[in-house]
Amino acid sequence: MPGFELFGDEEKKEVMDVLDTGVLFRYGFEQARKGKWKARSFEEKLCRFTGAEYAHLCSSGTAALSIALAACGIGAGDEVIIPPFTFVATFEAVLNSGAVPVFGEIDETLCLNPDRLDSVVTEKTKAVIPVHMCGAMAQIDKIKKFCAEKKLILIEDACQAIGGFFKGKHLGRFGKMGCLSFDAVKTITCGEGGGIITDDHDLYLKASQYADHGHDYSGGPDRGADGHPIMGANYRISELNAAVGVAQLGKLNKIIKIQQNNKKIIKEALSGISDIRFRQIPDPDGDSASFLSFFLPDETRAKKVIKALGKNGVDACFYWYDNNWHYFRKWDHLKSMKSAAPLCAQFAETKPDYKNISLPESDSVMKKTISMLIKLSWIDSEIEKRINGIKNAVNS
Ligand SMILES: *Cc1c(COP(=O)(O)O)cnc(C)c1O
Repeated sequence: MPGFELFGDEEKKEVMDVLDTGVLFRYGFEQARKGKWKARSFEEKLCRFTGAEYAHLCSSGTAALSIALAACGIGAGDEVIIPPFTFVATFEAVLNSGAVPVFGEIDETLCLNPDRLDSVVTEKTKAVIPVHMCGAMAQIDKIKKFCAEKKLILIEDACQAIGGFFKGKHLGRFGKMGCLSFDAVKTITCGEGGGIITDDHDLYLKASQYADHGHDYSGGPDRGADGHPIMGANYRISELNAAVGVAQLGKLNKIIKIQQNNKKIIKEALSGISDIRFRQIPDPDGDSASFLSFFLPDETRAKKVIKALGKNGVDACFYWYDNNWHYFRKWDHLKSMKSAAPLCAQFAETKPDYKNISLPESDSVMKKTISMLIKLSWIDSEIEKRINGIKNAVNS
């Protein structure tokens, strides 16, 4: 997953372009910038890579989620269905929008189970945000169909899934908007950054306005003359970060190829082990292959194996069920609504009783799941060593 492993001269060159002009701002300064538009160029490349009509870069993946929620008109009083297996950013963005996060069950795709959405829909439900976790896709066709039937807005959290496709279409392109992250540990990074992609021109305009204090760019080169049709925030990306992203995006195809190759070798080597089953991936060809996730027969075995992996020096393995940041079970701050300031959700007439929420299906999947990061820098002998380490750990 980590683009930082392929960091080099290309990134330096793009950043030096920006430093040479001294224009770190993505808008204006037409003369001084000498034709260098890094954020713009990143957005154009992102459209080409994903096939989306429009892309707008912003300061983080979390910002992208906030922007998408705002642009789609989701806020106070609304409920948004999200999975309990994601990074905390997904529920943070929903809460900060004023809406109430509601948890649907996940299944062995490690993503929202489309067949279990109906049981958490209420008359307040406005949107569903499936998260394409660990580089591979949710059953996005079925989730899209469900949203269409129920007239719900579909926004995709594809922050971990750039370079991932479902039946030839890039993830993040199935709903109204897709959200991407380029933070320090994502498949491509620009230090801090994110973006939304969409095919809807009005949503794109609203998103770019919201991310920049409502600026509508009607003032031409004079930002002070711009109108402000809506209130917004500052979720802008800097030209320096965007410059790194331009270089990283140029490497994305290569990154995905390496990941797919490394993952394939390890997966094949482990496929004979009867105690291991692999995560279900609705379209294996579209897997960005940033992680290999598998199931042990039960919680006890999974806990034993994750310990043994550590002892065997097999690094970059995750047992999410015990993880503070990626699974609902450990989100005590959410369960007791410990926020710095009051949230709309706290005053919602009806909301889930987060403290007593029960997600038995998600629990049973997460209890037995181990994921390992697929690195780009591995040489053949390291992969061989890993395979042996994993086999020993599973058989221990
Ligand atoms: C990383 C991540 C985010 C947030 O991205 P940042 O750029 O770190 O704000 C949101 N959702 C998921 C699933 C992520 O992995």
